[in-house]
Amino acid sequence: MKKVYQRRDKCIGCAYCIGVAPGFWEMNEKDGKCDLIGSFLLKNEFVLEIFDDEVEQNKKAARICPCNCIRVE
Ligand code: SF4
Repeated sequence: MKKVYQRRDKCIGCAYCIGVAPGFWEMNEKDGKCDLIGSFLLKNEFVLEIFDDEVEQNKKAARICPCNCIRVE
């Protein structure tokens, strides 16, 4: 089981993550940043457990994010 981590405070709301991993990311209209759907806040990062077959699209999101605020481990 891997996890996706998001430093939401660094997010600029470009929505690239939604483009490559729809279903995991959505725009929050209140502050214009993206939410990692179903995640919980742990210290300064939002965290979501994902299945093996969900890793690749979230790694793509991590690669495409211009702020380097997504990681998959
Ligand atoms: S790609 Fe990164 S900066 Fe852009 S909306 Fe997603 S988390 Fe935010």
